[in-house]
Amino acid sequence: MTARVLDGQKLGARMQEEVKPEVAGFTRRYGRPPGLDIVLVGNDPASEVYVRNKVRAGSDVGFRVELHRLAADASLAETLALVTQLNENDATDGILVQSPLPKAMGAGAQQQVFDLIAAEKDVDGFGAESVGLLSQNRPILVACTPNGVIELLVREGIQIAGTHAVVVGRSDIVGKPMALLLLHRDATVSICHSRTPNLAEIVRQGDIVVAAVGRAGLITKDMVKPGATVIDVGMNRVTDPAVAQTLFPEGHARLASFRSKGSVLVGDVHPNVEEVAGALTPVPGGVGPLTITMLMMNTLRAAKERQAAAVSVR
Ligand code: NDP
Repeated sequence: MTARVLDGQKLGARMQEEVKPEVAGFTRRYGRPPGLDIVLVGNDPASEVYVRNKVRAGSDVGFRVELHRLAADASLAETLALVTQLNENDATDGILVQSPLPKAMGAGAQQQVFDLIAAEKDVDGFGAESVGLLSQNRPILVACTPNGVIELLVREGIQIAGTHAVVVGRSDIVGKPMALLLLHRDATVSICHSRTPNLAEIVRQGDIVVAAVGRAGLITKDMVKPGATVIDVGMNRVTDPAVAQTLFPEGHARLASFRSKGSVLVGDVHPNVEEVAGALTPVPGGVGPLTITMLMMNTLRAAKERQAAAVSVR
């Protein structure tokens, strides 16, 4: 069997096209576009790339997007003050503080910042109120990556209710919200992590497997039930030739590309899983593009709900 490829790139592009007329309609109706404010503290190179992509995507669908930069040595108080100002700004529908914040800000700073973002503007869905509401299955805004996975499964017609879904990874931004979303759609959910002793045995039970770990090729074909749907959230840049050789056979185009470029981007799922899975997301081009698309959807939703709330208060 060769797995059906679940093309997140294509779906993400299609969904962003669907958003554009809605954004135009919102702008006509309320005399202003939905507003997304992004806070970037410092100049971490990976964060710069993520933020650039978010600004570009937001502008492309018709939002007002503003990037607020703080210096790498900005204090926690300064960052919190900026979030407070954005919470109070009526033209701001979505607030996103790019993670990670500089380590110098101290442990716990990031969550403190996320928690200050007003729940109705928390388009990343990382604040305590957003997470609490999700756990009770009455979410306002849901974390973009796991929400993108659900969107992909639904739009690809993959059954969730009644299946056994195995989530590998229990982070606050991917694993835990992913498990909750699958649970709320009536899957029976197992959550695995670094202390799970019998990982292969549990993953093999999954009708749906979501890998969100950060380890290249961790999930191999012997760990996957034939026909299962496998969602690869992991994004790992491999630079070690020995690791690249465990992932791709001699003669494979991606091994040749690794040799010419010196690195290759891979997921947590070993490429050989395509031999047994029923459907599989590629890396790159699977879950990654949907994360930004869901940010667009969340911002539009936040804008609509804030306007609706403003009308009902009048
Ligand atoms: P974290 O490092 O926060 O969490 C990783 C999780 O994997 C932890 O729960 C950890 O367990 C678990 N884990 C580590 N090693 C193993 C192992 N050997 N077996 C089983 N579980 C293990 O990562 P994130 O959740 O933030 O991200 C995960 C991956 O997803 C990364 O590659 C990241 O780059 C990618 N990512 C991709 C996005 C996208 O848009 N495509 C968005 C966000 C993330 P424990 O809790 O016990 O430590």
